[in-house]
Amino acid sequence: MLNLSFSNFQLFCFGWIILALLTFAILFFIQQPYGRHARNGFGPMIDNKIGWIIMEAISPIVFNLFFFTGKLPFTFIHWMYFGLYNIHYINRSFIFPLRIKTNGKKMPISIVLAAVFFNSVNGFVNGYYASNFQHATTSTFLLTLGFTLFIIGFYINNKSDHILIKLRTNNTNEYKIPRGFLFEKITCPNYFGEIIEWLGFFLITFNIASLSFLIWTAANLIPRARDHHKWYMKQFIDYPKNRKIIIPFLF
Ligand code: NDP
Repeated sequence: MLNLSFSNFQLFCFGWIILALLTFAILFFIQQPYGRHARNGFGPMIDNKIGWIIMEAISPIVFNLFFFTGKLPFTFIHWMYFGLYNIHYINRSFIFPLRIKTNGKKMPISIVLAAVFFNSVNGFVNGYYASNFQHATTSTFLLTLGFTLFIIGFYINNKSDHILIKLRTNNTNEYKIPRGFLFEKITCPNYFGEIIEWLGFFLITFNIASLSFLIWTAANLIPRARDHHKWYMKQFIDYPKNRKIIIPFLF
């Protein structure tokens, strides 16, 4: 299909990481306009749930396209790559959007398109790397540590999303102060869990493609967590002052 040399592929990933760092800086000044920060001025809008399915489902589609058209014979590490990536995205693309209670809410199509671009490139770099350049696991230690972190991160992310989704008990799109679990320590444990998850994925696969995904995830979620934290502080006078933003006890 596509025949990239390792050095060209690496160059592409370096460029992709630089773009993530630029995005990180920009997102400290512009709030991502979906969810509680949705607002006019970003073009036509689309139903929130449909937006989520479109923007997330593209990632496993592109990943699997490149994963199954690469050159290498599959070994244990390749099936780890395949399994963990797809488990995450089956949840994010289909289960999560069908569970959220965002009655009648919309998000800008421009956000969906930006996310489709991000998720497609991410699916490409990881699927392409896995089946063309990933020869083996670097060490049993990294594999074990990474897998443990991935499972812990996945659990934290899903449990936190579950608590947030359950806060809405009727058909109004109201917001409440989340309580319990890691919400007692930080405002955005779902984002914290997601970052831990992709840190684990990076340690398992230990390559520039999964590193770029980890950096992009942090670049997207840290500024958004700060925006959420500020929003709660402004919205609720009784919002717990001791909660950090995204890293327990630190930030
Ligand atoms: P949020 O925490 O903003 O919202 C999650 C869901 O819970 C939404 O349906 C939201 O409704 C609802 N919700 C949140 N807070 C409250 C509250 N206080 N009261 C009532 N309902 C609430 O997460 P995102 O929508 O930004 O992200 C969803 C998932 O996607 C997360 O798990 C995140 O980690 C992941 N993600 C990953 C990215 C990556 O780069 N890897 C990028 C972006 C997201 P509403 O939408 O109406 O606010």
